[in-house]
Amino acid sequence: MIPTIIVHGGAKTIKDDKVAANHTGCTAAVEAGWAVLLGGGTAAEAVEAAIRVLEADQTFNAALGATLNSDGEVELDAAIMEGSLNWGAVAAVQGVRHPISVARKIMDDKPRLLVARGAERFAVDSGAEMCKKEDLIAEEQWQQWKKDEKVIDRPNTVGCVVLDASGILAAGTSTGGTTKQQQGRVGDSAVIGCGLYADNKIGACSTTGDGESIIPVVLAKTAIDFLVGDRHPDEAAQMAIDALASKVKGEAGCILIDNQGRIGWAYNSQNMAVAYMNTDMDRTAVFTRK
Ligand code: ASP
Repeated sequence: MIPTIIVHGGAKTIKDDKVAANHTGCTAAVEAGWAVLLGGGTAAEAVEAAIRVLEADQTFNAALGATLNSDGEVELDAAIMEGSLNWGAVAAVQGVRHPISVARKIMDDKPRLLVARGAERFAVDSGAEMCKKEDLIAEEQWQQWKKDEKVIDRPNTVGCVVLDASGILAAGTSTGGTTKQQQGRVGDSAVIGCGLYADNKIGACSTTGDGESIIPVVLAKTAIDFLVGDRHPDEAAQMAIDALASKVKGEAGCILIDNQGRIGWAYNSQNMAVAYMNTDMDRTAVFTRK
């Protein structure tokens, strides 16, 4: 099996002055996940490593630098799923530096979605890196929130999909939600089938975009279903986005890897930052537009 990794930095509009930061961040995330795979790590370990890089990068809407809710707070959702159908998820957590790592710890414990205080308690008990909730607020986000600016190039959700050398697939997604979302609102990112899905027999997917549109079309599972019959992931990804656009309003994007290691992605926003790598390539490919 050819190990393969793909990451996204969200379906969004990327202004010219943010292109370089999106390239750098997505490339660094692929490299972190790739190093795990080269070291013999599992797909889930590679997904976690890649997403941790994006969560620590203020360019993206995940953990540090995430968009602020109605109360001016960072509130985070993340989930991870393995192709064995094992999964873990957190939602509406605060003061957690790497929600994806907490989701993974939940997965390794027993599959469930933990929210708010319960998730934060689990994070503390399992030794996750905690911080003051204010420490995750970036200056740019705070200024925009205070001035109630209309944000064109809002930061956006991150995700990663991996096929490892033993043919195991995994997907992960991490987000700060939507700009000024109601306190307590949870979108698609931590919801299995919507923000992510993985099935070793078919493929794996991570999505991004308007959660309220992604949830009713179960976007990640829809994209996986389009892979059936050996359809190429690029075509399946486009079909999933077309299906969403035909049924609901909203912007969305998805990244896919099938069980042969072929990749695909599609989006209906202006841009989507994407980077990927496999053993046939000598360096990471990175894009902000397809
Ligand atoms: N899907 C995320 C949410 O609705 C946000 C995004 O990807 O832009 O919470």
